[in-house]
Amino acid sequence: MTKVALVTGASRGIGRATALLLARQGYVVGVNYLQAEMAAKQVVEQIRNQGGKAQALRANVAEEGEVVAMFAELDATLGPIDVLVNNAGILFQQAGIEQLTAERINNVLATNVTGYFLCCREAVKRMALRHGGQGGAIVNVSSAAARLGAAGEYVDYAASKGAVDTLTTGLALEVAAQGIRVNGVRPGFIYTEMHTCGGEPGRVDRVKASLPMQRGGQPEEVAQAIAWLLSDAASYVTGSFIEAAGGR
Ligand code: NAP
Repeated sequence: MTKVALVTGASRGIGRATALLLARQGYVVGVNYLQAEMAAKQVVEQIRNQGGKAQALRANVAEEGEVVAMFAELDATLGPIDVLVNNAGILFQQAGIEQLTAERINNVLATNVTGYFLCCREAVKRMALRHGGQGGAIVNVSSAAARLGAAGEYVDYAASKGAVDTLTTGLALEVAAQGIRVNGVRPGFIYTEMHTCGGEPGRVDRVKASLPMQRGGQPEEVAQAIAWLLSDAASYVTGSFIEAAGGR
């Protein structure tokens, strides 16, 4: 039976690569975005051109009402969710603790943490066996920064990803008996617009020589790890993390 996937932040980068890969694997795919409507629609068009089924879904994952409405739209257009990829995330320019404002910290936490919680909640309501669901799988896209820290660089971002990892571990325990697996992927330095938009343009190329594999990663390489954790090949894997960080 065809499975329904929702990928948040799928208009570009890792989310886009994941949506395209899942569609190639036979999932029908909800392509969430915030601002980049054209880009999200191009992802949907690419999937449809390859014979797949997809729907663009605009929602700010940090806004509870918008997340609830997005899941209702997914139910109505593609059907109840089988797999969720919590991927939408933001990163602001490097700043030390003395430069951090409450507004910036709260923005990062609202998208990177609250957004993940809200999407997990709506997914679990639909997947849980106790609600008549079929079970399912969730992958939370974290960051190598959660494990390694990012002192003096993006400590707010790293802290948000630490919270994501704690959510992943705790939720995996909470919903294991409900047929739901919850895992995480921690990318390292990946060539996406995240570094161009919020972070520091050219950063991946500047740091790559210091990485064990001596190169940055491609979004498609992260998507492969996400897709494996969602698949039946990982049927006994929950509360686990894959590092997609070139050995870092
Ligand atoms: P990206 O290229 O900047 O793309 C971010 C995506 O998230 C876009 O589709 C954007 O949508 C969406 N988004 C942002 N805020 C949103 C919100 N409030 N609601 C809904 N969608 C929102 O990022 P990326 O590099 O692919 O990163 C994807 C994930 O991987 C993030 O969680 C990031 O922290 C993590 N990660 C990335 C790297 C890396 O090196 N790139 C490393 C470690 C972890 P619009 O374009 O429509 O605004």
